[in-house]
Amino acid sequence: MRLNILIFFCCFLAFGVLRAQDSSLLDLQKEESYILSYLAADSMKGRSAYSRENLHATKFIARYFEAIGLIPFQDSGFLQQFNRNPSDTSLALFNVIGYLPGRAKPEEYIIISAHFDHLSPDRRFRKDSIFNGANDNASGTAAMMAIARYYAQKGNNERSLVFCAFNAEELGLIGSNYFVEHTDASKIIAGINLEMLGFPQFGKNRLMMTGMQKSGLGSIVRKNLAGSGIKFLPERQDDLFARSDNFPFALAGIPAHSFLCSNDNDRCYHKVCDDLKRIDLPNLALLTKAIIQGISSVVNGVETPSRIKWK
Ligand SMILES: [Zn+2]
Repeated sequence: MRLNILIFFCCFLAFGVLRAQDSSLLDLQKEESYILSYLAADSMKGRSAYSRENLHATKFIARYFEAIGLIPFQDSGFLQQFNRNPSDTSLALFNVIGYLPGRAKPEEYIIISAHFDHLSPDRRFRKDSIFNGANDNASGTAAMMAIARYYAQKGNNERSLVFCAFNAEELGLIGSNYFVEHTDASKIIAGINLEMLGFPQFGKNRLMMTGMQKSGLGSIVRKNLAGSGIKFLPERQDDLFARSDNFPFALAGIPAHSFLCSNDNDRCYHKVCDDLKRIDLPNLALLTKAIIQGISSVVNGVETPSRIKWK
């Protein structure tokens, strides 16, 4: 009888834990589905830099940051203005930056970033002229925003988290370059850049990181993901390390890398078929959760990845 009760109690506990895990996954998925369906809609026309829809996207992300309880970073509001050409201030672009101060180490920043801009419509394509950029990079933006909401609700990050929606990545990493130039790099502990996480090009449960050997971040993430069922792999197409918004950080010595599950060999990379219907939402939520778990010991201040040394 007592054994029965014990077994019943254990089953109940195990079931409870599983349900708790499922609900956090479903929560991430629900949030990412909502964000993706806005950013990758045809009405957003690919969110290319300088378009009206690009500005709509910045406002959407800023409102979201404010609603979940982030605060502005440094002296700007949520919108960080920059210009492609510093002498021409008539053409303004905006990064969207939200800040969650750390409890124990507020002067140590972890950057969690994703670019939200993509490409302009091309009218030569009659049937579908819109480059929705659902995978590149509404998926990474949705993951970044869902992670922001996750930590804002928990409120237990020991280091400060700075959430960056970077603009004009597709024009040459312009927004991230501007951010790095205007932030004290010595305070940035790590850069977690999210790119193309929606289409599992190499199968489900696979998370890739660019520049695996260049800093100590990969080994920390690998250790934290042991036993999680996620395959954590180096991105083999290694030039991707220098082609996304992690790179300006990396040039400053910061262990900053991109996390992705597809690369530019995907047949819909920078094509009009990079649509919402190709996004694997459950897998995106799973990888988002894996990233949270993978960086947990860095966020809670226990581990510090070694920096990048350029010879
Ligand atoms: Zn991209």
